[in-house]
Amino acid sequence: MAKQLDYHTIREIFSRFQAAEPEPRGELDHVNAYTLVVAVALSAQATDAGVNKATRALFKIADTPEKMLALGEQGLTEHIKTIGLFRQKAKNVIKLSRILVEEYGSEVPNSRAALQSLPGVGRKTANVVLNMWWHYPAQAVDTHIFRLGNRSGIAPGKTVDAVERAIEDNIPVDFQRHAHHWMILHGRYHCVARKPKCGACLIRDLCHFEEKNL
Ligand code: SF4
Repeated sequence: MAKQLDYHTIREIFSRFQAAEPEPRGELDHVNAYTLVVAVALSAQATDAGVNKATRALFKIADTPEKMLALGEQGLTEHIKTIGLFRQKAKNVIKLSRILVEEYGSEVPNSRAALQSLPGVGRKTANVVLNMWWHYPAQAVDTHIFRLGNRSGIAPGKTVDAVERAIEDNIPVDFQRHAHHWMILHGRYHCVARKPKCGACLIRDLCHFEEKNL
Protein backbone atom coordinates (compact mmCIF):
# COMPACT_ATOMS: atom_id res chain seq x y z
CA MET A 1 0.00 0.00 0.00
CA ALA A 2 1.54 3.33 -1.05
CA LYS A 3 1.43 6.28 1.27
CA GLN A 4 -1.27 8.89 0.76
CA LEU A 5 -0.39 11.42 -1.95
CA ASP A 6 -0.63 15.08 -1.04
CA TYR A 7 -3.35 17.46 -2.18
CA HIS A 8 -1.35 19.14 -4.97
CA THR A 9 -0.25 15.85 -6.49
CA ILE A 10 -3.81 14.53 -6.46
CA ARG A 11 -5.02 17.76 -8.04
CA GLU A 12 -2.44 17.32 -10.83
CA ILE A 13 -3.45 13.68 -11.35
CA PHE A 14 -7.13 14.53 -11.74
CA SER A 15 -6.34 17.52 -13.94
CA ARG A 16 -4.61 15.09 -16.30
CA PHE A 17 -7.50 12.60 -16.14
CA GLN A 18 -9.88 15.47 -16.91
CA ALA A 19 -7.80 16.74 -19.82
CA ALA A 20 -7.67 13.24 -21.32
CA GLU A 21 -11.39 12.53 -20.79
CA PRO A 22 -13.51 15.53 -19.75
CA GLU A 23 -16.80 13.59 -19.45
CA PRO A 24 -16.00 10.02 -18.46
CA ARG A 25 -18.92 7.59 -18.65
CA GLY A 26 -19.72 4.26 -17.08
CA GLU A 27 -19.85 1.25 -19.35
CA LEU A 28 -22.99 -0.44 -18.04
CA ASP A 29 -25.82 -0.03 -20.55
CA HIS A 30 -29.11 1.29 -19.16
CA VAL A 31 -32.05 3.33 -20.41
CA ASN A 32 -33.40 4.79 -17.15
CA ALA A 33 -32.78 4.76 -13.40
CA TYR A 34 -34.54 1.43 -12.96
CA THR A 35 -32.50 -0.39 -15.59
CA LEU A 36 -29.34 1.14 -14.09
CA VAL A 37 -30.21 -0.37 -10.69
CA VAL A 38 -30.85 -3.74 -12.34
CA ALA A 39 -27.65 -3.60 -14.40
CA VAL A 40 -25.51 -2.70 -11.38
CA ALA A 41 -27.15 -5.41 -9.28
CA LEU A 42 -26.42 -7.93 -12.05
CA SER A 43 -22.81 -6.78 -12.36
CA ALA A 44 -21.58 -8.15 -9.01
CA GLN A 45 -18.75 -10.55 -9.82
CA ALA A 46 -19.41 -10.16 -13.55
CA THR A 47 -17.94 -7.92 -16.25
CA ASP A 48 -19.83 -4.92 -17.61
CA ALA A 49 -19.51 -6.40 -21.11
CA GLY A 50 -21.08 -9.68 -19.97
CA VAL A 51 -23.95 -7.83 -18.28
CA ASN A 52 -24.53 -5.62 -21.34
CA LYS A 53 -24.74 -8.67 -23.57
CA ALA A 54 -27.50 -10.12 -21.39
CA THR A 55 -29.44 -6.91 -20.80
CA ARG A 56 -29.54 -5.80 -24.45
CA ALA A 57 -32.58 -7.97 -25.16
CA LEU A 58 -33.90 -7.91 -21.58
CA PHE A 59 -34.28 -4.13 -21.35
CA LYS A 60 -36.18 -4.05 -24.66
CA ILE A 61 -39.01 -5.96 -23.00
CA ALA A 62 -38.53 -5.10 -19.31
CA ASP A 63 -37.43 -1.51 -18.69
CA THR A 64 -39.79 -0.83 -15.77
CA PRO A 65 -40.49 -2.71 -12.53
CA GLU A 66 -44.00 -3.58 -13.73
CA LYS A 67 -42.73 -5.12 -16.96
CA MET A 68 -40.06 -7.05 -15.02
CA LEU A 69 -42.75 -8.47 -12.73
CA ALA A 70 -44.81 -9.40 -15.79
CA LEU A 71 -41.78 -11.19 -17.24
CA GLY A 72 -41.40 -13.10 -13.97
CA GLU A 73 -38.48 -14.84 -12.31
CA GLN A 74 -38.40 -17.67 -14.82
CA GLY A 75 -38.42 -15.36 -17.82
CA LEU A 76 -35.75 -13.16 -16.28
CA THR A 77 -33.57 -16.16 -15.49
CA GLU A 78 -33.61 -17.15 -19.15
CA HIS A 79 -32.19 -13.73 -20.10
CA ILE A 80 -29.41 -13.60 -17.51
CA LYS A 81 -28.21 -17.17 -17.27
CA THR A 82 -24.84 -16.27 -18.81
CA ILE A 83 -24.10 -14.07 -15.76
CA GLY A 84 -22.59 -15.48 -12.56
CA LEU A 85 -24.95 -16.07 -9.62
CA PHE A 86 -27.89 -15.59 -11.98
CA ARG A 87 -30.46 -17.50 -9.92
CA GLN A 88 -29.95 -15.37 -6.82
CA LYS A 89 -29.73 -12.21 -8.91
CA ALA A 90 -33.03 -13.04 -10.65
CA LYS A 91 -34.73 -13.50 -7.29
CA ASN A 92 -33.37 -10.18 -6.04
CA VAL A 93 -34.38 -8.26 -9.17
CA ILE A 94 -37.95 -9.58 -8.94
CA LYS A 95 -38.11 -8.75 -5.22
CA LEU A 96 -36.68 -5.26 -5.64
CA SER A 97 -39.06 -4.61 -8.55
CA ARG A 98 -42.02 -5.54 -6.35
CA ILE A 99 -40.81 -3.22 -3.58
CA LEU A 100 -40.35 -0.36 -6.06
CA VAL A 101 -43.92 -0.80 -7.30
CA GLU A 102 -45.50 -1.23 -3.87
CA GLU A 103 -43.49 1.26 -1.82
CA TYR A 104 -41.95 3.80 -4.17
CA GLY A 105 -44.58 4.34 -6.84
CA SER A 106 -42.35 2.48 -9.32
CA GLU A 107 -39.65 5.15 -8.97
CA VAL A 108 -36.07 4.47 -7.92
CA PRO A 109 -35.38 6.27 -4.61
CA ASN A 110 -32.49 8.73 -4.51
CA SER A 111 -31.23 8.12 -0.99
CA ARG A 112 -28.47 5.70 -0.10
CA ALA A 113 -30.46 4.22 2.81
CA ALA A 114 -33.53 3.53 0.64
CA LEU A 115 -31.43 2.05 -2.16
CA GLN A 116 -29.52 -0.18 0.25
CA SER A 117 -32.78 -1.50 1.68
CA LEU A 118 -33.54 -3.11 -1.71
CA PRO A 119 -32.65 -6.82 -2.09
CA GLY A 120 -29.29 -7.31 -3.78
CA VAL A 121 -28.35 -3.63 -3.49
CA GLY A 122 -25.32 -3.02 -1.26
CA ARG A 123 -23.41 0.15 -0.54
CA LYS A 124 -21.37 -0.13 -3.75
CA THR A 125 -24.45 -0.55 -5.96
CA ALA A 126 -26.18 2.33 -4.19
CA ASN A 127 -23.15 4.56 -4.69
CA VAL A 128 -22.92 3.71 -8.40
CA VAL A 129 -26.59 4.61 -8.87
CA LEU A 130 -26.26 7.84 -6.85
CA ASN A 131 -23.19 8.80 -8.87
CA MET A 132 -24.32 7.78 -12.36
CA TRP A 133 -27.98 8.71 -12.23
CA TRP A 134 -28.20 11.60 -9.80
CA HIS A 135 -24.64 12.83 -10.24
CA TYR A 136 -23.98 12.79 -6.52
CA PRO A 137 -20.30 12.72 -5.58
CA ALA A 138 -20.79 9.18 -4.23
CA GLN A 139 -17.75 6.94 -4.41
CA ALA A 140 -18.30 3.28 -5.22
CA VAL A 141 -15.08 1.29 -4.81
CA ASP A 142 -14.69 -1.74 -7.03
CA THR A 143 -11.66 -3.94 -7.58
CA HIS A 144 -10.10 -1.54 -10.15
CA ILE A 145 -10.45 1.52 -7.93
CA PHE A 146 -9.19 -0.39 -4.90
CA ARG A 147 -6.07 -1.48 -6.81
CA LEU A 148 -5.35 1.93 -8.35
CA GLY A 149 -6.01 3.77 -5.09
CA ASN A 150 -3.56 1.59 -3.21
CA ARG A 151 -0.83 1.36 -5.82
CA SER A 152 -0.70 5.01 -6.71
CA GLY A 153 -1.38 6.54 -3.31
CA ILE A 154 -4.46 8.42 -4.59
CA ALA A 155 -6.57 6.64 -1.97
CA PRO A 156 -4.75 3.95 -0.02
CA GLY A 157 -6.70 1.79 2.42
CA LYS A 158 -6.82 -1.77 3.68
CA THR A 159 -10.55 -2.13 3.14
CA VAL A 160 -13.05 -0.95 0.55
CA ASP A 161 -14.60 1.38 3.14
CA ALA A 162 -11.19 2.87 3.95
CA VAL A 163 -10.53 3.55 0.25
CA GLU A 164 -13.98 5.10 -0.10
CA ARG A 165 -13.21 7.43 2.84
CA ALA A 166 -9.77 8.26 1.40
CA ILE A 167 -11.33 9.24 -1.93
CA GLU A 168 -13.90 11.43 -0.20
CA ASP A 169 -11.30 13.00 2.07
CA ASN A 170 -8.46 13.58 -0.40
CA ILE A 171 -9.82 14.20 -3.89
CA PRO A 172 -10.54 17.90 -4.45
CA VAL A 173 -14.24 18.62 -4.44
CA ASP A 174 -14.36 19.79 -8.07
CA PHE A 175 -13.14 16.35 -9.18
CA GLN A 176 -15.35 14.29 -6.87
CA ARG A 177 -18.25 13.78 -9.26
CA HIS A 178 -16.20 12.18 -12.03
CA ALA A 179 -13.55 10.60 -9.76
CA HIS A 180 -15.37 7.27 -9.81
CA HIS A 181 -15.27 6.90 -13.59
CA TRP A 182 -11.79 8.33 -14.08
CA MET A 183 -10.43 5.87 -11.54
CA ILE A 184 -12.42 2.87 -12.73
CA LEU A 185 -11.41 3.41 -16.36
CA HIS A 186 -7.76 4.03 -15.48
CA GLY A 187 -7.71 0.90 -13.31
CA ARG A 188 -9.51 -1.21 -15.88
CA TYR A 189 -7.47 -0.22 -18.94
CA HIS A 190 -4.10 1.06 -17.71
CA CYS A 191 -3.37 0.11 -14.11
CA VAL A 192 -4.38 -3.49 -14.80
CA ALA A 193 -3.89 -6.23 -12.21
CA ARG A 194 -1.05 -8.31 -13.66
CA LYS A 195 1.09 -6.06 -15.81
CA PRO A 196 0.15 -2.43 -15.28
CA LYS A 197 0.93 -0.28 -18.33
CA CYS A 198 3.18 2.07 -16.40
CA GLY A 199 5.33 2.96 -19.41
CA ALA A 200 2.36 4.63 -21.10
CA CYS A 201 0.58 5.83 -17.95
CA LEU A 202 -0.18 9.54 -17.86
CA ILE A 203 0.47 9.74 -14.11
CA ARG A 204 3.59 7.58 -13.90
CA ASP A 205 5.74 10.48 -12.63
CA LEU A 206 3.29 11.09 -9.78
CA CYS A 207 2.34 7.54 -8.84
CA HIS A 208 3.96 6.02 -5.74
CA PHE A 209 3.85 2.37 -6.83
CA GLU A 210 7.29 0.88 -6.16
CA GLU A 211 7.04 -1.98 -8.63
CA LYS A 212 6.20 -0.03 -11.75
CA ASN A 213 6.21 -2.00 -14.98
CA LEU A 214 8.39 0.35 -17.03
S1 SF4 B 1 2.28 4.23 -13.08
FE1 SF4 B 1 1.68 2.08 -13.18
S2 SF4 B 1 1.06 1.55 -11.09
FE2 SF4 B 1 1.04 3.79 -11.24
S3 SF4 B 1 -1.06 4.32 -11.83
FE3 SF4 B 1 0.12 4.17 -13.70
S4 SF4 B 1 -0.22 2.06 -14.40
FE4 SF4 B 1 -0.79 2.13 -12.22
